[in-house]
Amino acid sequence: MSTLVMKFGGTSVGMTTGLSQVLSIVLYEHERWTNLILVVSALEGVTDALIEAAHLAQLNNQRGYRRIVATLRTRHLALIEHLPLGSTEKTALQTDLDRLLYDLLGTCQTVAEHHDDALRPEVADKIVHVGERLAARIVAALLRQNNLRGVAIDATDLIITNNAYGNAIPDLALTRERIATHLLPLLQRGIIPVVTGYISSSVTGKPTTLGRGGSDYTASVLGVGSDAREVWVWTDVDGLMTADPREIDDARVIPTLSYDEAAELAYFGARILHPRMIHPLREQSIPLRVRNVYTPQQPGTLVRDKLASMLPAIRAVTSIQGLGMSTSHNGPLAPLAQTVDSMLADLTGSHTDVTITSQSSSHSFICFVIPTMAGPDALHSLQVALNQDEELSAGWNTRPVQVVTVIGTRLGEIHTLTANVLLALEGIPLLALSQAPSHCSVSLVVETQYGETALTRIHNLILKNG
Ligand code: ADP
Ligand code: ASP
Ligand code: MG
Repeated sequence: MSTLVMKFGGTSVGMTTGLSQVLSIVLYEHERWTNLILVVSALEGVTDALIEAAHLAQLNNQRGYRRIVATLRTRHLALIEHLPLGSTEKTALQTDLDRLLYDLLGTCQTVAEHHDDALRPEVADKIVHVGERLAARIVAALLRQNNLRGVAIDATDLIITNNAYGNAIPDLALTRERIATHLLPLLQRGIIPVVTGYISSSVTGKPTTLGRGGSDYTASVLGVGSDAREVWVWTDVDGLMTADPREIDDARVIPTLSYDEAAELAYFGARILHPRMIHPLREQSIPLRVRNVYTPQQPGTLVRDKLASMLPAIRAVTSIQGLGMSTSHNGPLAPLAQTVDSMLADLTGSHTDVTITSQSSSHSFICFVIPTMAGPDALHSLQVALNQDEELSAGWNTRPVQVVTVIGTRLGEIHTLTANVLLALEGIPLLALSQAPSHCSVSLVVETQYGETALTRIHNLILKNG
């Protein structure tokens, strides 16, 4: 018996062209696998709009959140209108969407009535859930229209997490039990579950989310919980690439990567994968493929263990923003790191797992990586909060920095690879350098103004050697 989990991102389900690709992919794979489980994200941009609505509700700005809900309604109805659906399926779907959006207005109103000083992540989680619910219903209706037994499933019944609202971690044992009771019986009946990505619930049934970009994580958790043979992430690029193609024009697809390399790539800022999704797959040796929904004839990238070729090579480069703090004296860094970490957790709902420090007899430097998923304003908010804390900011020079991470097989063991990277960066002052324990990445901290040049020069090195 073979099970395949396929995740379709917001870039795939947001438009009719993407949805018709989704349909042909499902029709094709349906013939090849015993069971299919689909995971879908909200339409592109919908989660951002819902977070904005949550902020407006918390400010008691009724006109503001009502306008957003009305725009979401128009957008989803327009999408349905353009899909090849029969009138029964279309009417049922419209009624379903209206009910979800009506409930959303009710939730926003409750938030507005009890408005608080700041938007708490548990309040935002209640509101953002609807994005994935809307998308799953649309995809399931499209499957049914095409004689496939698609059923929309809310992951709140399946993925059980801790209470870290906004960035929750699934309890794999509890989740496996839920999958066994709620999902596997559907597969046995020949149903294709269309599961909402990103959303989950706590042990006590409160809405939680898995962090921005969390549908990837949903797919990996469902893959593990259903003993899937493979997990595929369908997106808008041809696979995992040597760099973000939006930043580097000549970025190339990497045909195969190890779990460690893919995990480092995701962890250090490549938005294409959720940073925590690789770990469960690696534990169960479930291969991951990343493919382009618009060019399904391309093989994409395969991520798995024990790659035939473990030749030392630099495979990819990522870049992520960070906050660098330096001081001209030297002293213990741990208390500062703890304080900034909890400040960041309050501001963004997520802990900064990555801190890079360096210390000499007369100088200390510490860099905190701001998770990409924390959103574009996180860096600014952290800087403002730090400046307000006089005791903390005294004597420290704080500035935004760029963390450029080089990912490569055996990078930490083969020093000539790191030496080549350092040579390529000649003339760019390095604020700090750190190596991952997995030996497959080296992170370099540079002033923001040098970030782009550093990225381009390292990428040229990859192309030259590749
Ligand atoms: P989805 O909606 O499918 O989840 P995302 O926007 O979350 O899509 O992720 C896909 C995007 O990730 C790509 O459009 C690309 O710009 C970006 N990206 C960042 N780094 C990389 C990389 N190394 N390889 C491929 N894509 C990358
Ligand atoms: N819709 C969610 C987000 O925008 C989850 C995802 O896209 O995977 O973060
Ligand atoms: Mg994504």
